[in-house]
Amino acid sequence: MRPDQLAGALSQLQAGHCLRQRAVLDSPQGPRVSIGGRDYLAFASNDYLGLANHPALKAAMCEAIGRWGVGGGSSALVAGHFAIQEQAERALAEFVGCEAALLFGSGYAANLGVVGSLVGRGDAIFADKLNHASLNDACQLSRAEFKRFRHNDLAHLAQLLQNTPAQSRLIVVDAVYSMEGDEAPLAELLQLAERYDAWLYIDDAHGFGILGDGCGALALHALQHPRVVYMATLGKAAGVAGAFVAGSRQLIDWLVNAARTYIFTTAHPPAQAAAVLASLQLIRQESWRRRVLQQHVSALRTALAETSFRLCPSRMPIQAIIIGGNEAAVQVAGALQDLGILVPAIRPPTVPAGSARLRVSLSAAHSGQDVSQLAQALVRLLR
Ligand code: PMP
Repeated sequence: MRPDQLAGALSQLQAGHCLRQRAVLDSPQGPRVSIGGRDYLAFASNDYLGLANHPALKAAMCEAIGRWGVGGGSSALVAGHFAIQEQAERALAEFVGCEAALLFGSGYAANLGVVGSLVGRGDAIFADKLNHASLNDACQLSRAEFKRFRHNDLAHLAQLLQNTPAQSRLIVVDAVYSMEGDEAPLAELLQLAERYDAWLYIDDAHGFGILGDGCGALALHALQHPRVVYMATLGKAAGVAGAFVAGSRQLIDWLVNAARTYIFTTAHPPAQAAAVLASLQLIRQESWRRRVLQQHVSALRTALAETSFRLCPSRMPIQAIIIGGNEAAVQVAGALQDLGILVPAIRPPTVPAGSARLRVSLSAAHSGQDVSQLAQALVRLLR
């Protein structure tokens, strides 16, 4: 794009109802947020367990700033990483049942770094069509042959594996699909990985903290295995920021030496690791948060079951209502906002064209009353 083409590109987005603008929050994330002096009931953030503004996490981070300072200083390989990060990596690895773990600055960075460390030219990647954008970018950047299989279609995947000669193979999936809320058949995927001698890379951004008593999709399905690479983000249910990759000790040693998004970036703030440790404790101990979430999921699905809303199948706090057109999705989200309720309208390129949707994110911090207020507003709009 040339500089004089920017205005045209922006107007084109606007005309397609795809121009994004960020809301400026005057409050922390939570079930209620304040924007421009007005309070909204919010179903937009991925703070599923309601930990992003939790006093224990804030206290841990403040105390750690006192002890460790603010900045990471340099790349961890150049200037070292911090004992508190080492401790968080050990705790995370143990929590998900793996030998070792490595912290990354974000899930996006982890995906780019890990995929590129495992495959390159002459290798092949097999990715679910609904994988997160960061995984698609990672696959493209790796220079490996990039094949996509129909969503959760194991027969299609097997056919691609069968017909694609490669030195090394990597199957890449989301454990929980971020814009649908449905789950990947991980056990069957591992069987295919074994049959075709492939790695299985699992992005559990939305399952960690929720599935398997909080331990995530890997622990839920007991899939710890030398050919499985597990990634989870720490900015969603864990309420902090960053991500970690877990697997065998050898895998983690290799990533420290090969993952460019780990090597060529400044070590992240040490205090973040302290907040992660505090979060892990709450994820472990406060199972009531997951129980409340399940009640909210059931309540919302029951309330909408008798309506003509098209809900994606999901037992997760991600509840997607397919609207179809971009303009219609923006209109419904706008009408909800007028009623004081924030639900994002998700449009292409985040989701395929013609499948724009409302993505409702439920949180343990919502009350039952909040969820019924949303359901009533949706039913009213439908009328
Ligand atoms: N993977 C999935 C499935 C995600 O939903 C996201 C975040 N939207 C990411 C990776 C990226 O994680 P992060 O926000 O930590 O960069």
